[in-house]
Amino acid sequence: MYRPHEECGVVGVYGHSEASNLTYLGLYALQHRGQEGAGICSSDGRGLHIEKSMGLVADIFNERRLKRLPGHSAIGHNRYSTAGGSSLKNVQPLMANFTLGTVAIAHNGNLVNAHQVRAELEANGAIFQSSTDSEVILHLIAKSRHTGLHERIADALKHVSGAFSLLFLTDSEMIAARDSFGVRPLCIGRVDGAYVVASETCALDLIGAQYVRDVEPGEMVVISSSGLRSFPILNGSKNAHCIFEYIYFARPDSYIFNHTCVNTVRRSLGRQLARESMIDADIVIPVPDSGVPAAIGFAEEAKIPFDFGLIRNHYIGRTFIEPKQSIRHFGVKIKLNPVRDLLKGKRVVVVDDSIVRGTTSKKIVKMIRETGGATEVHMRICSPPTIGPCFYGIDTPTRQELIASSHITEEIRRYITADSLSYLSVEGLKSLVPNPSDYCSACFDNKYPIEFPEKGIEQMELMLA
Ligand code: AMP
Repeated sequence: MYRPHEECGVVGVYGHSEASNLTYLGLYALQHRGQEGAGICSSDGRGLHIEKSMGLVADIFNERRLKRLPGHSAIGHNRYSTAGGSSLKNVQPLMANFTLGTVAIAHNGNLVNAHQVRAELEANGAIFQSSTDSEVILHLIAKSRHTGLHERIADALKHVSGAFSLLFLTDSEMIAARDSFGVRPLCIGRVDGAYVVASETCALDLIGAQYVRDVEPGEMVVISSSGLRSFPILNGSKNAHCIFEYIYFARPDSYIFNHTCVNTVRRSLGRQLARESMIDADIVIPVPDSGVPAAIGFAEEAKIPFDFGLIRNHYIGRTFIEPKQSIRHFGVKIKLNPVRDLLKGKRVVVVDDSIVRGTTSKKIVKMIRETGGATEVHMRICSPPTIGPCFYGIDTPTRQELIASSHITEEIRRYITADSLSYLSVEGLKSLVPNPSDYCSACFDNKYPIEFPEKGIEQMELMLA
């Protein structure tokens, strides 16, 4: 079944003799955006070539496989999904042949009307190969009555709603498009005269590309031998960039949403958190890695020494990948271990980016107290309570599983057994991002900026279950 559950990374290169190698490196830099599977599709001007598998980028691709991806242009995709949606047929890029030739697609984000559009297409005889919402876009392109591919893509994208940062590849062109809300990031760079389009600038950095600009919300960018052409294809809506990209998802060394530094935002959120929930303590420690910039900001503002009191084993995936509660309980221990010398007899402030179900925080507090020997454990969360699931491309569990959707902070504190627990306020968060009204913060305030079709939200909530 199709699940509204996808976090992903995309990268594409046009006009470079090593297009697929650069795309591979770009995917490597974007591995944090998806660890379930990855793929690259290249064009040698005569046809498309594709290689994809389940697993991590470094394990999937080797010299032999990259050699099977010839040509001067390529697009790649990292996929993240939970159990149920996991299978090779859902790994992107997806490819389709139709009257205008072959086209490949790589999609980051989530459509909110995919279920309805898919049902209509199926009722009219369409046969789907995967359970991803991205395939709906390919069908709409194939079915469009417009003559040229650009017009067909523009037409298809008018019929879907939700979040999409997209890359398409044909024999002769690479095309990028972004939904009119600009939910997920997408930037353009240049290297050796070639064009690069990527989810985050950390992918540009690794391949030595210079940032040029973002793909604008509602814009389609066509890159071909005649250079880059821009087409505004979707009517302007209010921007709704995902605020959670700053909190957790994007890499801190990336610049997203009109080149805003993720690290700078995260650190200033940590300072704000300290102003909002000051506490007398001996040491501030982050939950690595995502809590690090915020913990540094917190320690600076609170004038409490910062140190790495939890050490992370970097050779396992994020605990969230584990589909079962029982494995996740174990996962925290596999991933993190306290440094006793730093924590013993201390009043410890632990900074993490978010609490979802509460499982991680509970384990961490116990670990810091019991194994670490801390006398007090104060949990500080550098985001507001997560009360609403994301339907626009961040993997979140059902509303019922989000501990803050049904419990007040004091109840959560008791559950995680911390001496104190504070979250960042929604106002504090919004005060520190540029143009605060340009963001979607539905996970923190239940205000969903992209309308759902009739029964859309109920349907999506059911599909998360
Ligand atoms: P939980 O144990 O369910 O409360 O999960 C909280 C932990 O998951 C925090 O340490 C976060 O860094 C991390 N986290 C939050 N959101 C996500 C997400 N969408 N994907 C993966 N990990 C996440």
